[in-house]
This record gives sequence, C-alpha cells and structure tokens, in this order.
Amino acid sequence: MTIDGILNSARDGRLLSKQEAVALLNIQNSSKDFYHLISLANELTRSEFNGKGFIFAQIGLNAEPCSVNCKFCSMGRDHYVMDSIWKKDINSILSEAKNLIHSGIHDLFLMTTADYPVSDFMNVAKRVKEILPDDIRLVANIGDFDYATALKLKEIGCTGAYHICRLREGIDTTAIPEKRIRTLDAITKAGLELYYCVEPIGPEHSYEEIADEMLRARDYHVGVMAVMRRVPVKGTPLYENGRISFVELSKIAAVARVVTRPHRAMNAHEPVQMSLICGVNQLYAEVGANPRDNISKTENNRGLAVEDIKQLLADAGYEVSF
Ligand code: SF4
Repeated sequence: MTIDGILNSARDGRLLSKQEAVALLNIQNSSKDFYHLISLANELTRSEFNGKGFIFAQIGLNAEPCSVNCKFCSMGRDHYVMDSIWKKDINSILSEAKNLIHSGIHDLFLMTTADYPVSDFMNVAKRVKEILPDDIRLVANIGDFDYATALKLKEIGCTGAYHICRLREGIDTTAIPEKRIRTLDAITKAGLELYYCVEPIGPEHSYEEIADEMLRARDYHVGVMAVMRRVPVKGTPLYENGRISFVELSKIAAVARVVTRPHRAMNAHEPVQMSLICGVNQLYAEVGANPRDNISKTENNRGLAVEDIKQLLADAGYEVSF
C-alpha cells in the first residue's frame, strides 16, 4: 500500500499493522509524504481532542545513585553524573506541588529512582493528594511494582502510573523486560490509568523497535501516549551515540499519534514547538531530578516551567483551560 493509502485507512479508523507503522516511520523528513503524515496527525489531534492543550508537571523527588544503572541516565549508580545527591523533604515537595497547582496544570507526576522505598513514596503521595484539587490527576512514576502495590497506589489517591518497557530494556538497563510488563499489567488490572512512552529514542534504534512500543501502548488502550528522545548526558555510557533531531522526534510523534490512537492526549519530550503541528497537544514542565540532566534542580537547566509550556501550547493554537 502507498503512504497515502495507509494514511487514508488510518483516517477511516482502521488500526495499522506493525509493517504499516514502519512504513510511516521510514518516510523521509521534509518529503511530500512527511507533510501528509503530519497533516493527518495534526488533524486527528485537533478534532478528536477538541483543540485542547494539556499541561502536565513532574517533580523528581530524589537525586540518588540508582541500581538499575540505565546507560542513558545521569543517576545510574555506576556512572553517577548528577551534581549532587539529595532526597526532597515533605515540606519542599508540598511547596513545589502548590506552586505547580497554582500555575495551572492538568496532571501531576511524582517521580523517584527505582530504589526509593515504595512505602516512603506512598507517604509522600498521600500528603500531596491532600492538597491536590480533585480535577488534577496524580500519577506515580516509580520502579517496578506488583498488583497489591498498584491497588494501594489507587487507594491512596493516585489516578495513574507512568510505566514503560524502555527501548533495549535489559540491554541498556538492568531491568528485566518481563518484570516491566508485569508492572504494566498490574497498573491496568488495578484500574490505574497507564501513561506510555516510546523512550529514550536514540539514533541507533530501528524503526521496528520503535513500532513495537507503539503497538504495545495501543494494546493497553492508553489515553496519553508519548515519545521521547534520549538526551546525551556527558559521562553516561550512551553519550557518544548522540541524539536524533527534533524534526525526527516530531515525525515519530506523528506516527505514534496515528498508530497508537491515544484517546486523551499526545506528548513529545523534551518540549519542542514543531511537534505541536505534528499531533502533539500535551507537554511537561519539570522540577527536581531528571535522568536527562546533570543539574539536579532541572528547573534551573533543562526543565521548562508551567508558564513556558502554556505559551508553547497557546502559540500553537491550542486552548488551555482548566
Ligand atoms: S532511568 Fe530510572 S531506573 Fe534507570 S537508572 Fe535512572 S533512575 Fe534508575
């Protein structure tokens, strides 16, 4: 089938195959097909999501050496390159959460390294939930966990969890892919909303690997889909591999939008204006630790503020309302 044939059948609502997803990923950037692809992704997002833009914010609760040792992460224990080591106390977490709420966000994510004790995380999440307006979702971004923990997360007020099987999981990380998948199953079985992402995309990843994760997300019926490029942090083992361009990231976002068919929002990370005409209508503000940064207060370096995100969405013609 031609690219236009694939795009037309996606427009008609047919779910695309892996082979078709790979064909779309193989489109040359700036070719005529490229514009047909981003036009469809843009059209689907603006019509199905009613022209609305969404602001999510994430607080990284700790900057500590992590035993999972992901080869792209500034906090991997064997190559720790973060500028300091710390764990936020509850008062600073609550104060940051209040600032973000006051600035205007739709969903709040709390992120930890994989070794952060789950019971400590629960205590923090409970306190944050107490100050969170009912219409802001609370999302856990933590290490692997079982069904009982998923139920507890739900009980204390988390509405969802960000969890993924990373690209080359078990090769570029020491996490076990099957365990990651068991956590995905626990999240959905417990009735938590699963937030998915194809990440961290680098130049060495094949389109087949990328397409596999898009289809995995579709199988879980995710509401919010994302794609993220790897940021080469100096001193991490994958630093020399470099990074993909923003136009490539935006094309992958457009393909993910068309293939995965999220029903609430589409994200690309880190935030970039051009993705917002490629089917992306949701961006993240970030505070605290971040695996893509060596400055542990990422709000002073790579992380954007809520106001920046609001402006990016408004400039792209999205309506941001609460
Ligand atoms: S990406 Fe997450 S799990 Fe991997 S080393 Fe960094 S903090 Fe640990």
